[in-house]
Amino acid sequence: MDNHKLLQEIIYDCPFCDKEHNIKIFSRNGKSLVKGETVEYEETYYYCPNEDDEFVPSKIMDDNIKSESIDDYSVSYNTDI
Ligand SMILES: [Zn+2]
Repeated sequence: MDNHKLLQEIIYDCPFCDKEHNIKIFSRNGKSLVKGETVEYEETYYYCPNEDDEFVPSKIMDDNIKSESIDDYSVSYNTDI
């Protein structure tokens, strides 16, 4: 699924590299299964080009979870980029 979009680039203290460097911030439409129904929501994640991997700062994670408005963690993240 190719629905992620670049929001901005910032210098951020990267947890993979353990130093500050340029990080890309993306948002994408995620899907989760809630009570048997597929619910779409927008989630924000940070991307480290050095490690070719993504992470979600805890502050952003809270926002993502709030926007889902569900109270369990049975979220299947769509990881294909
Ligand atoms: Zn990094």
